[in-house]
Amino acid sequence: MKLIFSSAKNTFLWIKFHRAFNFVLLFGLGFSLPLAQANDCTARSILTRFQVRGDPLTQAVRPESLASLALEVRALFLAEIQSSSISQEHKDLLSKRLMTLKIRTKACNKHSSLASNNSMTHTISVCDTMLKYPEFSLVVLLAHEMGHSMDLCGISRPFFEVKPGGKIPQFNPPLDERWADYLRQIYENESEYFIFRDMFDSPRSKEVIDRLIEEKKILRLEKGIPIEESPITENYRCLAKRSSYPELTQDHAELCKGFKYSEAGAQIWSAKVSAAYLKAKYFRMNRVDLVSMFSLMQISTKRSELQSPRDKEKDFNEIFLPQSIFRSSFECQSTVAPSCI
Ligand SMILES: [Zn+2]
Repeated sequence: MKLIFSSAKNTFLWIKFHRAFNFVLLFGLGFSLPLAQANDCTARSILTRFQVRGDPLTQAVRPESLASLALEVRALFLAEIQSSSISQEHKDLLSKRLMTLKIRTKACNKHSSLASNNSMTHTISVCDTMLKYPEFSLVVLLAHEMGHSMDLCGISRPFFEVKPGGKIPQFNPPLDERWADYLRQIYENESEYFIFRDMFDSPRSKEVIDRLIEEKKILRLEKGIPIEESPITENYRCLAKRSSYPELTQDHAELCKGFKYSEAGAQIWSAKVSAAYLKAKYFRMNRVDLVSMFSLMQISTKRSELQSPRDKEKDFNEIFLPQSIFRSSFECQSTVAPSCI
């Protein structure tokens, strides 16, 4: 079911007018305009209404500091966790994950992703080019990457502290390449924490982790949190009921297969935290701040790509836009079913 709709009367009148207009153009002038969507509150219609042409980032202002912005986003994130209905024990565990997450910048080329969250080093890396983006897009981005530390896959993964010093023990038989790579990432980056990427799906994984714990190289801080104790589970269920997001499953392997659940989870977190940020800063945000979000959501304003909506655009329409703070910011008139977020 589609989440966003115009009132039936307005849609009817608009379509009538638009068809007549196209008819004139088609037969009177010899070409036609594509039929725009009747809904005034989708990513595409907002782009048109805000007259976004070219790259809004050319007007970007450099944020004062990525680190201080990250602290602000983290504080809003922590507040979201505290206001959720999960147990205090799980609130504390999730807060610990956030408080220990490191953020750094990295040099990027045009093929790099804008930011990433490496669970084995418990670090978010943000492209240095992102520092040219307006503040609000960085908020959306940071909240998304922080969300990965407790997305619908990540939440059930175990969380460890790395004890300083010491060498990696010798294993017999030697570690396979995947394990060797994990340990390199942890020890070469002097990680202090990590969220274990495997779900102990092999006896070997369990054996290696147990040995590292036994030799006091690492400490298990939590064994992972059940999906029912995630602050975003009910939001996701609501979305899956209304839209084409897949049903939630209890199966860890399925939740961590590909990116469909983890991405949706990070987007829900981003939508929650970005909405809180927007509420706090609403009165000093300008159109560039608002529009900058679109670049980040990877919606192209290139004509050739207008016909192929991508997953991020769908998320924007169905996860972000139904929230009233986004709708009023983008001057949306059409009504919408209550937000799942
Ligand atoms: Zn992501």
